[in-house]
Amino acid sequence: MRWFFTKLREVIGNIENLAFVTDRGQSIINGIAEVFPEAHHGYCMYHIQGNLKTRYRGSGVVALFRRAAEAYSFEEFTKFMGEIEHKSESAWEYLSEMGVEHWARSHFPGRRYNMMTSNNAESLNALFKKDRELPILAMIEHIRSKLQQWFYDRREESQNCTSVLAPAQEDRLFKTLEVAKALFVKPLEQFHFFVRCGRNVGYIVDLNDNTCMCRKFQLESFPCAHAVAVAMYRGFPPHSFTTRILLK
Ligand SMILES: [Zn+2]
Repeated sequence: MRWFFTKLREVIGNIENLAFVTDRGQSIINGIAEVFPEAHHGYCMYHIQGNLKTRYRGSGVVALFRRAAEAYSFEEFTKFMGEIEHKSESAWEYLSEMGVEHWARSHFPGRRYNMMTSNNAESLNALFKKDRELPILAMIEHIRSKLQQWFYDRREESQNCTSVLAPAQEDRLFKTLEVAKALFVKPLEQFHFFVRCGRNVGYIVDLNDNTCMCRKFQLESFPCAHAVAVAMYRGFPPHSFTTRILLK
């Protein structure tokens, strides 16, 4: 693994805010810590869930873990972790000792976007499962040829794309806009806005650092409905709130 990460580092160089999402294999944990000490390491939620299912099936711990892992706010996370502790102290210890910053969205120190699982890698694994029986050179050639075709197809697709964002993100932004239309924005001062979304529910959007009290905006690097409502209120395109990585 160390060899693999060293080669990877040679190819991609230093990337600010680099984050890995892996299945928590020990050799991967060691390799990343050694070769990419500044990177953030997220663990796949499904892999941890699988371990919990084996140990705590039927106790309700698995569902609570999902909610704790996917929570955006610290308060929600703490609430679900408390419920896990109440149901099973050993499950709570297992999850705490693993380091909550590796699996809980709310505590991840880097940018994980919406990547809570390593499903992409699993899909590739499944695709090349049969090819693993080939001699090594034939296997590498087969994988290279398939990936090259994908890169070609996607480049073609992107060159014909006329939207600001990639189509899937454009679609997501459109749906967020529909929600944002129903929200009420009240300016607090130049860069702070209160967005009301229910009788007693509201969030503050801060345009100084593009954050929202709901934390979706900063954790996904994609505007939440509250931020989109502010963009509409101020009259600038919500696209400007998305990060460069989502642009096509
Ligand atoms: Zn928000």
